Amino acid sequence: MSLHRCQLCDPPKHKTIDILKEDYIKTEKKQYYHIDCYKKYLIKKGKSEEEIISTINFIQDIMQCEKKIEQDKDRLFVWMMNYYSVEVISTFIFKKISDIVAGRSCLIKKCISYEELLDIYKIMGNYLNKNALKKNFTDIDSRMHYDLAVVINNYNKYREYKDKQQDNNIQVKEIEKQINNQKVSENVIKNRISNNQEYNLNDNLNDFLL
Ligand SMILES: [Zn+2]
Repeated sequence: MSLHRCQLCDPPKHKTIDILKEDYIKTEKKQYYHIDCYKKYLIKKGKSEEEIISTINFIQDIMQCEKKIEQDKDRLFVWMMNYYSVEVISTFIFKKISDIVAGRSCLIKKCISYEELLDIYKIMGNYLNKNALKKNFTDIDSRMHYDLAVVINNYNKYREYKDKQQDNNIQVKEIEKQINNQKVSENVIKNRISNNQEYNLNDNLNDFLL
């Protein structure tokens, strides 16, 4: 249970917002409010009904994004702990990954999200295992450090692949639209869709790797 103090109705040292159960607001300054309390707070500040709704929607969108990032982060580290059979991720690796996500890494100038990192790790999992057999890593941290560099080095290829896949999906959707609009012969369309769906990860895996 994670409790926080409502800035409006909780006296000092009282915490009644249970973030797992309740709808709440977390402001940019990391202050917590019950939703109704936050509405009261905005009314006091003279905000109109419309402004109150848009402010709350805006904050909730940001909260949703932050929540997703936290979930993606957990997913990545849980996956890594399973993959490397470790019970904890060392502070060293943890910090390196946090820096990459925040765009503070000297290894790459772009920000790579936790979601993308996990995706690349999963795609490259077999390759990294085979690769590790050839290298004699002295400990698991050295291997994780090396693998992370390989994952980052493949980021551009991964992005190219994802963009191609997205274009491909758009093309398939376009063709589906044409089927509905123009009622073109079913067989012709089927062929075109299957041709367009030929990209899959395995086909591209060799290109993907170093
Ligand atoms: Zn409250």
